[in-house]
Amino acid sequence: MSEIAKETKKTASLDSANNSDSYKPDSEISKTWKAVHSKFRDEFGEAVFRSWLKPLTLQAFYHNTLEVSVPTRFMRDWIQTHYAERMLEMCTEKSDRIKRLEIVVVQNTIIADEINDNSAAKIKSNENNKSYEKYDLNSPFDQRFTFDTFVVGKPNALAHAAAMRVVESQNVPFNPLFLYGGVGLGKTHLMHAIGWEIQKQSPEKRVIYLSAEKFMYQFVKSLRAKDTMTFKDAFRSVDVLMIDDIQFISGKESTQEEFFHTFNALVDQNKQIIISADKAPSDLLGIEERLRSRLAWGLVADIHPSTYDLRLGILQSKREALQADIPDAVLEFLALKVTSNIRELEGALNRIVAHADVTKQNVTLESTQDVLQDLLRSHDRRITIDEIQRKTADHYNIRLPDMHSARRARNVARPRQVAMYLAKQLTSRSLPEIGRKFGGRDHTTVMHAIRKIDELIEADVQIAQDVEVIRRALTG
Ligand code: ADP
Ligand code: MG
Repeated sequence: MSEIAKETKKTASLDSANNSDSYKPDSEISKTWKAVHSKFRDEFGEAVFRSWLKPLTLQAFYHNTLEVSVPTRFMRDWIQTHYAERMLEMCTEKSDRIKRLEIVVVQNTIIADEINDNSAAKIKSNENNKSYEKYDLNSPFDQRFTFDTFVVGKPNALAHAAAMRVVESQNVPFNPLFLYGGVGLGKTHLMHAIGWEIQKQSPEKRVIYLSAEKFMYQFVKSLRAKDTMTFKDAFRSVDVLMIDDIQFISGKESTQEEFFHTFNALVDQNKQIIISADKAPSDLLGIEERLRSRLAWGLVADIHPSTYDLRLGILQSKREALQADIPDAVLEFLALKVTSNIRELEGALNRIVAHADVTKQNVTLESTQDVLQDLLRSHDRRITIDEIQRKTADHYNIRLPDMHSARRARNVARPRQVAMYLAKQLTSRSLPEIGRKFGGRDHTTVMHAIRKIDELIEADVQIAQDVEVIRRALTG
């Protein structure tokens, strides 16, 4: 029996028990609770109150224990970890009869009505047995994206292992599974692989994969049609829900709200959820705090940028799949040169194979360099320190001469350090050369700047993003 069912039953049996009077809160306790509950708003703030604490309902009082209920298990856990301690304090201040606070899950409270038990939605779904067909929620899986074709290496080992766990587990091993990493590193591939595998093992399961963009589009459609209940209903019978590129709903508040409720309802029903994004949950700007923390609740697995070994492995596996006759030297050359992401690497390989096909010539190192001229040139493009200084000054809205000046004010010193850091990363200049370009500074100053920015990138999301944006402007 699930935990929810157990607890719901427990409360139900309390109610029906003959001696239920001894559990029923007396008027003094009821009054105390009412007074304390209304104080939560001031204590925890309006947003917290509305999202979490408002639905709290007094259920029972026994052995100095105040029992209150919420509609979902997730809410209970969240309130337990974040607010329960202070809540109890507030109760005991009011009445010394209260010594403990017990939060239980009872599903038939207000919010549960909306999510789980909406009778209007039920009637609708009876009329139209597969209400979800009204909303186009399912995207087909790509034939190429299976576990068989996914090459495992150090950068993606954790994400791959997590995906396998989801597939192999009888129950839900962690919820959600959150996969994140840069573009073209295999997030979508892994999600499709999970989908294929679950479908193969359990054809009766309903697996839904959709991009966050599509989720939003369909949701907005349901809003317009004043039909959000059918939309919600469409997710009710889902066993596995996968949402790709969740960063897309940044700043889209009502979509986030809807997603949050869908998410909680599914987690409460113990349904597996898998999410992907380009950043870690905590770094997703424009996503509400409560959703961000919720996303990090299960297992967060990142996919790192590829290594030479992984790229070579992928190329070898593709060569085999294509049954193409390509010399090792060509694969090694590509693995060395095309480092941006796997998608581009695949594109490069496809191009040289296509070229060989059309010209009926063998693939050689020379023909490869020839065919990929434009691509390789863009990778080899020399970035100068002047350019880095200009782009960095632009980004921070400071004057270019401040890159060379002796001013130490933080608002110019920090951008200068960022520029030094990028100069080291993106050019082959030595530390003394870089120092000279920054108003004749010493190489130890440059070294200090690089260390500092390295540290800040770890500690400060804003700096990490700044550096990334400028880097892209320079290399993109
Ligand atoms: P993302 O969703 O992270 O942007 P994708 O999953 O779309 O990236 O991957 C981009 C391309 O690279 C796809 O064609 C995918 O098959 C391929 N790819 C990525 N990682 C791997 C891997 N480890 N093994 C094989 N192919 C991969
Ligand atoms: Mg993708």
